[in-house]
Amino acid sequence: MSDKTHHPDTVAAQALGWIDERTRAVIPPLHVSTTYLRDEDNQYRSGRIYARADNPAFDQAEAVINTLEGGHQALLFASGMAAATAVFQALKPGDHVLAPKVMYWSLRNWLMNFATEWGLHVELIDMTSPAAVAAALRPGKTALVWIETPANPLWTVTDIAETARLAHAAGALLAVDSTVATPLLTKPLALGADVVMHAATKYLNGHSDVIAGVLVTREDSPYWQRVRKVRAQVGGTLGSFEAWLLVRGLRTLHLRVRAASVSAMAIARHFESHPLVAEVLYPGLPRCQGHEVAARQMTGGFGGMLSIRARGGEAAAIAVAAKTAIWKRATSLGGTESLIEHRASVEGAGTPAPPDLLRLSTGLEDVGDLIADLEQALAAAHGR
Ligand SMILES: *Cc1c(COP(=O)(O)O)cnc(C)c1O
Repeated sequence: MSDKTHHPDTVAAQALGWIDERTRAVIPPLHVSTTYLRDEDNQYRSGRIYARADNPAFDQAEAVINTLEGGHQALLFASGMAAATAVFQALKPGDHVLAPKVMYWSLRNWLMNFATEWGLHVELIDMTSPAAVAAALRPGKTALVWIETPANPLWTVTDIAETARLAHAAGALLAVDSTVATPLLTKPLALGADVVMHAATKYLNGHSDVIAGVLVTREDSPYWQRVRKVRAQVGGTLGSFEAWLLVRGLRTLHLRVRAASVSAMAIARHFESHPLVAEVLYPGLPRCQGHEVAARQMTGGFGGMLSIRARGGEAAAIAVAAKTAIWKRATSLGGTESLIEHRASVEGAGTPAPPDLLRLSTGLEDVGDLIADLEQALAAAHGR
């Protein structure tokens, strides 16, 4: 199956249609070897030496994700954080970096602590405002702009094409955390981004049983070669079994993402004007920040992530989460089971999450059951 000509659904369902050459198996074998035989004349014609750098277990997952993103090359990492931090570790001390005020919390923590201590000048700005991006860019100094869209946990939307234009005009690269959008709903590279990152832990694997990350580049470059070195030498390398599970998860990506998007939209609409809900945050709702941009840059849905703000403040929000039965109180997102989380408790001081906010990861259960469970939890939290 050639890479570029098929519909994403076909690419995903067949995991590019790869057949194991030796056995004709339609499902790949699980390669666990850590080392590869050298040729008699001391060469390594297999192209593989040692599994920290090269692993045939990665090839199919990387090829599928690269094809879905329309990239030049994909690289798997041991986690989303290993992938994201590699983007910054490949920069040089003294480089100026822009990142959003609203973004995945662990990465924000790493940027403001480790990355800063190691010599990156990290500036957090309002990425939803092209004027703020333009004002913060320092031509010749800013090496990279990092965005996340839609962004945890407010689901604010950043215009990828406009941000890419501004970054490139200042000589900076644009990297996009597209974990929530998935390659089914947004194609950052086609919109001008240089690198796309996914926590493959989330939708790409989709079953809450693998920690993994991936980067995809639009083109080869000296910068990308440094990213490759970070993976091989720093050693944030994924395990073979995790890569194998990831290929299995990818086969249903399109069905899972579409179903979660449809349910999330129904849930957002249902609770938008609910008396016990102060606000619903979801880019699919016309009254939410960034809806217009999302409608332009997302295709086929607005994703499975939304947040609701409970009337009654923090105590009410925590009480709602305590009363859900189907929605599981747990962190993470993008699995088949729906999850609910009081984000401010997780993020602590400095969080942009209001204290009454509950983050919802819509799973694949019946949407009527999901709505009814939230209804009864809201009522129970208010003693009704
Ligand atoms: C989970 C997540 C990450 C980090 O991925 P891990 O696999 O947990 O390291 C980064 N960005 C976003 C948006 C995430 O949801």
